[in-house]
Amino acid sequence: MGLIVQKFGGTSLADAEKFHRAARRAIRAKLDGSQVIVVVSAMDQSTDELVDLAYQITDRPSRREMDQLLATGEQVSIALMAMAIHHAGHDAISFTGGQIGLRTDRTFGRARIRDITERNRIVSLLKQGSIIIVAGFQGVDEASNITTLGRGGSDTTAVALAAAFGAEVCEIYTDVDGIYSADPRIVPEARKLDYVFYDEMLELASLGAQVMHSRSIELGKNYNVRIHVRSSYTDAKGTDIVNVSSDLEQVIVRGAALKKNLARVELGRVPNRPGIAGEIFRRVAEREVIVDDIIQVIHEGGTTADISFTIEANDIEAARAIAAELAGEFAEMKMQVRDRMAKVSVVGVGMRTHTGVASRMFEALHQANVNIENISTSEIVISCVINQDDGEKALRAVHAAFDLGQPPLQDSAA
Ligand code: ASP
Ligand code: MG
Repeated sequence: MGLIVQKFGGTSLADAEKFHRAARRAIRAKLDGSQVIVVVSAMDQSTDELVDLAYQITDRPSRREMDQLLATGEQVSIALMAMAIHHAGHDAISFTGGQIGLRTDRTFGRARIRDITERNRIVSLLKQGSIIIVAGFQGVDEASNITTLGRGGSDTTAVALAAAFGAEVCEIYTDVDGIYSADPRIVPEARKLDYVFYDEMLELASLGAQVMHSRSIELGKNYNVRIHVRSSYTDAKGTDIVNVSSDLEQVIVRGAALKKNLARVELGRVPNRPGIAGEIFRRVAEREVIVDDIIQVIHEGGTTADISFTIEANDIEAARAIAAELAGEFAEMKMQVRDRMAKVSVVGVGMRTHTGVASRMFEALHQANVNIENISTSEIVISCVINQDDGEKALRAVHAAFDLGQPPLQDSAA
């Protein structure tokens, strides 16, 4: 008998009626002959509300207690979901992360999953016909401290369970009907994709497409879990996230994304000698600032260099603190932070084997009168850092330039 994992996000569990609706999905899958594991997020905005409460108490909540607090949101959902299924006359039993033995490391706030120890119990309950409800986003470390996987982490719980129990599919129920060629709130012509490859989805997720937790895609890729993202409100087919299959590579660009709220840190007149970049970025790493791209320009004469890098806007304070430290050592150094930056990107595995993508993108931005501040590329991504005020216009221009609103010629399901 096949197993399916269904994950319901917070907006799909905003009120009692939505719980009943989600419960009906799970029951339907069971009546269709599957074993069912349901993973739930906290109701609607409740995690944000808990974060808010914590900061009403203190500016610096302990990370352990923060996880202890945030994990309660999902505990509410599992119990309500089990009750909704009982109400419809079916068997269900709910578990917290700790109760299914979802073991993580001890990095509070972004713990990584190590193992799921209570597998036998779950397997035998599934065999007895129970629908298993599991709290997303949480686990326990070796000392039974409650940990969380990071905001949005219920997706990762769902994919981990799908991998651990060999599910046929991990269905992610959400308030959009799948993965789009670009955010449809910004690009009205954006098209729902029938499928997207893990590598593309990983890039899209980290480049601003907020549909799924990146780590869930990584896991899906490593364990080859078929992930299907679909709407909670309709029966329409959503988007499959699958492995690359070579016959489909005529699609060069799969999607475009916009990431806002970036900042550029520019360090001018840094001494140009071995070890300096190491020195600067060691401090950046110590403060856990995530750096996107780095550019170094050596001045004529070669004694000094300008180094600039892109960070998330909410790391600006940390960047200023680093610069203040460095200023003590390098008297000549000048620092400037430019906020309100954004990054527009195109993604597609087909870029591995096609040329001309970058020039087409730059031309589209030029036509839209968008200035490019910086460019970075990888095998399957081209990104341009731009002014945030140009962001939406840039996304629409790039989307149009690659005809992403049109179905590709030979678009057949993977
Ligand atoms: N409730 C958590 C959050 O809001 C986890 C999740 O929804 O995936 O981030
Ligand atoms: Mg989510």
